[in-house]
Amino acid sequence: MTRFHLIAILSAIASTIALALHRSILLNAVVLAFLIAVGLGVAIPQMRLFGNFICSGNRKKKQVALTFDDGPDPRSTPQLLDLLRAEKIPAAFFCIGKHVEKNPELAARILREGHLVENHSFAHSNFTNFYGRSRLKSELQQAQSVIEKAVGCAPKFFRPPVGLSNPHTFRAAQDLKLEVVGWNIRSLDTVIAAPEKIVARIRRGLQPGTIILLHDGNIPVEKLLTTVKSLLDELRRLGYEVVRLDELLK
Ligand SMILES: [Zn+2]
Repeated sequence: MTRFHLIAILSAIASTIALALHRSILLNAVVLAFLIAVGLGVAIPQMRLFGNFICSGNRKKKQVALTFDDGPDPRSTPQLLDLLRAEKIPAAFFCIGKHVEKNPELAARILREGHLVENHSFAHSNFTNFYGRSRLKSELQQAQSVIEKAVGCAPKFFRPPVGLSNPHTFRAAQDLKLEVVGWNIRSLDTVIAAPEKIVARIRRGLQPGTIILLHDGNIPVEKLLTTVKSLLDELRRLGYEVVRLDELLK
């Protein structure tokens, strides 16, 4: 049973009591609280309302994992890969299927250099969270197929666009044997302009087992490189080891 099921059952019981007592104010309050909880659950992966949204790893080791969304992007991903290779840092790339279709060799390079290539939907539509289970499943399958064709193996993790989820997200992922992965630090690197402010924001949330969300797609390359370089320096200074996502989740 998910937390969503639990909240739905509790809300139904509370609503029945409110109706039996003819307390319309109580009924309205229950319905409002239910809608607010569901709305927050859709938007906040860490609430894990609809299923097992993996948002952190092993808390016992001083390790973190870097994840990069929305690539591969020929304007920035190659330089990021050069930096990660020079620093000997593994990462997970949540790739958009249609970008992999356009840049299969770049996706293959990501995997060849020891990183993970994972599923971030095929089209990354803002309406993905409104898809029914079968449409969502075919969206995810399309990304799986394109990625497998490009890199030679299928993803094991799915991150929904913008991190929005609902019960279909988990059922569709389960149908394809994908685990749903979020984060516990959102860097806001596409919103915050200054790399030092992005790194400061990440530093404030750091704890063992942290999954850090960054972007390699649709972001100025110099900003990306400066952010990642100073983040790696900061992590080293604080004694954190950067491991690959699958290693962090062991
Ligand atoms: Zn995205």
